[in-house]
Formats: sequence, structure tokens, C-alpha cells
Amino acid sequence: MRIPDEVRQAVTQLNNAGFEAYPVGGCVRDLLRGKQPHDWDITTSALPEQTAAIFAEDRTIPTGLQHGTLTVLKNGMPLEITTYRVDGDYADGRHPDRVTFTRSLTEDLARRDFTINAMALDIQNGVVDPFFGQEDLKNGVIRCVGDPDKRLTEDALRLLRALRFSSVLGFTIEPQTAAAIRRHKERLALVSAERITEEMTKLLCGGNVENVLTEYADVVTFLIPEISPLIGFEHHHPYHIYDVFTHTIKAVSAIKPIPELRWAMLLHDIGKAETFTMSEDGIGHFYKHTARSTALATDVLRRFRFSGKQVERILLLVKHHDLPFEDDERLLLKRLRVLGEEVCLQLLELQDADCLAQAPSLRYRLDEHQVIRERLRNLCENEACFTLKDLAINGNDLAALGIPPGPPIGRMLEKLLEAVMEKRVENTREALINLAKNEK
Ligand code: ATP
Ligand code: MG
Repeated sequence: MRIPDEVRQAVTQLNNAGFEAYPVGGCVRDLLRGKQPHDWDITTSALPEQTAAIFAEDRTIPTGLQHGTLTVLKNGMPLEITTYRVDGDYADGRHPDRVTFTRSLTEDLARRDFTINAMALDIQNGVVDPFFGQEDLKNGVIRCVGDPDKRLTEDALRLLRALRFSSVLGFTIEPQTAAAIRRHKERLALVSAERITEEMTKLLCGGNVENVLTEYADVVTFLIPEISPLIGFEHHHPYHIYDVFTHTIKAVSAIKPIPELRWAMLLHDIGKAETFTMSEDGIGHFYKHTARSTALATDVLRRFRFSGKQVERILLLVKHHDLPFEDDERLLLKRLRVLGEEVCLQLLELQDADCLAQAPSLRYRLDEHQVIRERLRNLCENEACFTLKDLAINGNDLAALGIPPGPPIGRMLEKLLEAVMEKRVENTREALINLAKNEK
């Protein structure tokens, strides 16, 4: 197991000062799974002020001193060092009213959420595992430490963390923990939007997302009630073999695990139930569902905490998820002009995943998308002209021809660009100046 020198050094410094210290929690879980941990937490018997004195020479950040946590930077690597503690009552369903420091490692491990997260690593002597986390890790089980009802009501974020770990690790949630999650889901109302967004995004990006969203649809619809009408809502369409909810989560699971793509997929058909009509032949239609989905997605995203840029991108993807792409240079240049290369490629990803979540007879579209993707890349690599700045002339050239500055120049540039994109004129200085003179 690879334990960075920085971590060993911090543990040794604490030990040399007479204190116990162990890597703990997520980093131990990840090491035992053979994955390199992305952050390191150390638990210690030293009190916060003792820890601060031991690391006086290092850069430190007082991350959560009232909870006993000090972040020490070793070679730029942040190590979160926390004093052994037990948590007091949780009056607000999320944060302990007060924490008490303790001398017992077992007590510190007992306050942690799941058995797989409640292990410490004694670098010389092996894993300290009073709650049998190794066994649960081996069997792929998420289980609360102690009584699930108590643990999940103390801090409701834990129930979403359980779903997240199940999705990311592909583990099943032990039945009593699962039942408690369902019983207490409404307590998620006590958790801040930031934390919900963070956990939901990780959950959506997990490999086991399809199962988790299926099994815990009630938790998802508590957070996003707009999804409820999709459950069991049949398409009545030969292209579809799943109801709208099942289609949605299969599409989520089929797309690359990039937050914006997964959120866009989750929301892409959210307006379908409200736009359903059936023609006389018994076929279902969802006219203008993309507009309705975009409107509903706007409300949903407003409740979660995303940056303005992320919201804008997710909504753009939802809005255009059905936009036709064809292997046609003129059409593709138009798409590039309006949306840019990155969004066009993301829309094709969405359309691939959307297609994988429909009837197998539609799979031929995946090959079509591949051809379109290649042509888009070619156009961009060969510096095709689809923005004003790609034109071989600029506003100054037009001003020199006597076109008045401001909107008239802008309009003329647009006209010239359109002509180039439609191949009515070559993108050379001479040809464009001639055309501009004629059109003036
Ligand atoms: P990640 O891979 O996301 O870092 P993690 O389990 O390490 O997962 P952290 O938020 O880094 O999550 O927390 C570190 C450890 O602190 C956890 O492994 C767990 O022991 C404990 N912990 C974190 N959040 C909670 C919580 N809400 N309730 C109880 N214990 C928690
Ligand atoms: Mg962690």
C-alpha cells in the first residue's frame, strides 16, 4: 500500500510527541480497495492546540478548530488532522451541538457514518477495525455504524452519502440501513443545498447509478418532485421500450460521468409527462417537451447550488438535446456557428446515450453520430469558417469601403459569413470585398 511520505512524517511527528495518530476514514477505505486516496485524514489523541504546536513549523489552516480539525500542508499536500472526538446531540439534524474530545480511538471511529469509513490504519500493526469494515468492504456492503435510525436522524446528509457510496463503489446498502434511509428521507430538507448538490453530483457520476436511482427513486423524488410523474409513464411509441423514468436513468448511466452531462441527462425529458398526447393510431407524442423540460430544469437547478456557468450549460444541453445533426457540412457549420464545437460534441454524447436508452432498432444512429463527430472535428481542425473572426476580412476593411460603422458593418459581416458558410463565396479578402461592394 502506498502511503505518501508526507502522511508518514506527520504521523511520526505526532507519535514522537507522545500521541497516537492514524490515517482514518475514506483514505483507509480507498487503500484497502487498492485505490490511491484523493485526500488524507489523520485522527489523533493530541488536542488541537497540541497539534498546532507540533506543526508550528508547517503551514497550517485552521479548517474547523471548534471541531478539532487542523489542516497541515506538507510539501503542498493538505493533511486534515482531527482530535479523537465524540459528537454531542444533533438538534438541527445535521451538525452536532458540540463535540467532546476523547482519548479513545474506538469512540472516534464509532461517530463515523459507515463501517467502511470507520477504520484507522496503524502503519506498523495494520488496520484498526472495531466495526468490521473490512468484511463489509470485501462483501460490498454499506452499513451504518450502530443503529441506522439514530445515525441517519443525527445527520441526514448520511443518507445521501450512503446512496453516493453505493453508486460510486457499486456496493449494496444493508437492509436495515436501506429501510432507515427510506424512513428518514424527508430529513434531507435539513441539509444545505451545497452539500446535497455535491453528493447528488457524485451519485449521478457513479457506475452503479442506474440501480441506485431505481431502488431509491423515492429519495430522488423527494429532492426533485418534478421527476415523480415520469415513474411508470409509458411512451406508447415504437422507438421506446421503457417508461420515461427508466429511459431517463438508463440514459444517465449511458453517458460519460461528467457532472454537466449526467445532470442534463437526468433532466432532459422531465417535461414529458406534461406534454403527452396520443394520436388516433395509439402512438404517443411529446410535442415541445424540450421547452417544457428546459422550464422545469430551470426551477430544479435553481434549488440546487451550481455556478451560473454550469446552469447555463446544463440548460443549453437540455434545450437542444433533440436538435438534429446530419452529415451535412452546411448544417454542421450552422450548428458550430450557433453552439460552438464543445457543445455540439456534448449534444452528440447526449444523443448517443438517449439512443442507447431506447429500442435497440435505433442503434444504427450511434454510427451516424460517429461520422458526424468526425466531420465536426475535421471542420474545426481545418479551420473552417463559422465565426466572424474566421472571416478573411474585418470591420475596418468594410469601413474603408465606406460602410457606416456600427450596426451596418455588423450586418454586412453577418451576411458575408452566411455567404461563406453556404459556399456562395470563397473566404478570401478579394472575394469578400467584391461581394461587400455589390451588396452595399
Ligand atoms: P471521499 O472519497 O468523498 O473523500 P470520504 O469518506 O473520505 O469520501 P470525507 O468527507 O472526506 O468522505 O470524510 C472523511 C471521513 O469522515 C469519512 O470517511 C467518515 O469517516 C467521516 N465522515 C464524513 N462525513 C461524515 C458524516 N456526515 N457523518 C459521519 N462521519 C462522516
Ligand atoms: Mg475523503
